[in-house]
This record gives sequence, C-alpha cells and structure tokens, in this order.
Amino acid sequence: MRIVVLAGGIGGARFLRGLKAAAPDADITVIGNTGDDIHLFGLKVCPDLDTVMYTLGGGINEEQGWGRADETFRVKEELAAYGVGPEWFGLGDRDFATHIVRTQMLAAGFPLSAVTEALCARWQPGVRLLPMSDDRIETHVAIEEDGEQRAVHFQEYWVRLRASVDARAVVPVGAEQAKPAPGVLEALGEADVILFPPSNPVVSVGTILAVPGIREAIADAGVPVIGLSPIVGDAPVRGMADKVLAAVGVESTAAAVARHYGSGLLDGWLVDSVDAGAVAEVEAAGIRCRAVPLMMTDLDATAAMAREALALAEEVRA
Ligand code: GDP
Ligand code: CA
Repeated sequence: MRIVVLAGGIGGARFLRGLKAAAPDADITVIGNTGDDIHLFGLKVCPDLDTVMYTLGGGINEEQGWGRADETFRVKEELAAYGVGPEWFGLGDRDFATHIVRTQMLAAGFPLSAVTEALCARWQPGVRLLPMSDDRIETHVAIEEDGEQRAVHFQEYWVRLRASVDARAVVPVGAEQAKPAPGVLEALGEADVILFPPSNPVVSVGTILAVPGIREAIADAGVPVIGLSPIVGDAPVRGMADKVLAAVGVESTAAAVARHYGSGLLDGWLVDSVDAGAVAEVEAAGIRCRAVPLMMTDLDATAAMAREALALAEEVRA
C-alpha cells in the first residue's frame, strides 16, 4: 500500500509514528511543509522537516516535540555574547549541525529535496521525506502591533510573539511561483491513499496545498483522501491553529476545518469522540465522517487513529 501524508511539524510527526506502527509494510511518502523555514545566523533552518526527521529517526526531544534530545546551547550563548540574535529562537548545539550541513549542501548547489534525502540517510526515518518544494516559500503573518500594521515571519509570530496578537492574514510568500519538489506529484499520482494528519490546516497543510499543482494532484488522484482533525472540543490540541484559522475566516471547530478543505479535496474526516455532534454537519457537506479518540497520548493511541483513518479510506473506496 502506498500512502502519502501531508505533514507539518509536531502533529504530523507524531501521527506518522503511529501510522508506521499501524501499517508496517506500507510505503509511506511524506510531503513536508517548508513554509516555516527561516534563515538564521546565515543558516537555513527547516523546522517541520527536521521535526519529522528527528521524531521518526529517534533524535527528537520528546517532551518538547521539536529539537534534539540531550541538547545543549553553548553556540547560542556564544552568539549572544557577541550580541548576535535572535535570542527568541532556540537552536541547540546538536541541531546547529543539521543546519550547517544543510546550508553547506545548498551552497554547493544541491536542491533542498536532495539535501533532505542526505540528512535522512543518517536518521533513517522509515518514510520517504520530501519537501513540498525546492523553491523558497516563507509564511508571513500580517499583524497589528502597537497600533501599526506589519507583516512578520511565521516563526516570529509563533515563537517571539507566542501568537499573542491576532493574525490578520497569512501569506505563503513565494508559493505562487513555486513548483512541487521532484517526486511530489509522482507520489500523489501513484498513491493508494492520501492522509492529512492532525497538522495545522492553515500554516502546515494549507501551505503545502498553496504550491501550484499539489491541490489539483490530490483532487485528481482518484484515491481516498482522509483527514484527522487537529481541533478537538473547539480548540487546537496545542499551538495557534485558532488564530490562523480566524485569519482565513474559519471557525475553530472540527466541522469548520473539514468544510474549509471541502468535499472537492476530502473524502473522509475523523473528529474526536468529544466532537461526535459534528459528524452530521460534516456528512451534510459531502464528507464521510467518524468520531473516534484523536488524542496522540502514546504510540498505541496514535496507531489506533491511523488504523481508523485507513479503515475510513477502505470504506470510501468501497
Ligand atoms: P507544528 O508544525 O509543529 O505546529 O505541527 P503540525 O502543523 O503538524 O501540527 C499542529 C497541530 O497538531 C495543532 O493544530 C494541534 O492542535 C494538533 N495536535 C497536536 N497534538 C494533537 C493530538 O494529540 N491530537 C489531535 N487531534 N491534534 C493534535
Ligand atoms: Ca510548523
């Protein structure tokens, strides 16, 4: 079975761990969000790709959900001693090595997809990890701060500002001119099932869908497309999905997110058991829906979610 998953960072990575356990023989391709990428200290940092790579490769800081386990921050301290920031972005010493290797390879002319493959040769994530695009795309968020309108990089909105101010608009800068990375459209065309894990619908899955050709390839794939709600009980399980959903005019409910993707894209949608009342509304929108436990508390619970998604795919296919 060939499964393609569109993934952001923590939600996507944790779901993938469950999917691998639920379908150990499946051939899994992950299309990773690169809209969160940022250049810091002259280095190219790809937070979502690295979260997937470290989580599946066994190097993740489990409590935090991002960054390396057993991390130290000597380099950051030395940079701060020179007055070089930003101080709000936590890059650890082990993590720095990943960004140095990536930046060095990019400077030598390798595309991000080739660099990601090289990094994964060390981590062996057990999936094929593809960036959504080799082209530079950066999600920017329009905000109002101290009475002034301005746009900030998504990382600045989320990490520095902690999403404490409202987002007026979310723009994946560069997406319109970008092309899907090599292998992305081919993987979608050959997939038996396509999954949207409980990743952020705006700044993770939404950004991937903003790369011209990807949305169309999913809609035209002719295979079940199944999503899992990142919104449980009318709030994100973690993160700022409510803020960025508001910026695109979508309510923070499991049903509203399903309608946002729409029946043109989604065939099936899983909501958490606490949102069982939303099933009828989602089905009325032409999307098959089931209420099941959707909290990724441990590997077993996450694998059960993946099995439910695959079962819903079979139901849709039949
Ligand atoms: P990020 O790039 O690290 O923000 O990660 P993603 O975009 O992949 O995932 C973030 C989304 O995952 C958030 O909207 C959370 O609400 C959602 N999420 C995190 N943990 C869980 C969970 O246990 N269950 C569900 N249903 N959603 C979750
Ligand atoms: Ca992210």
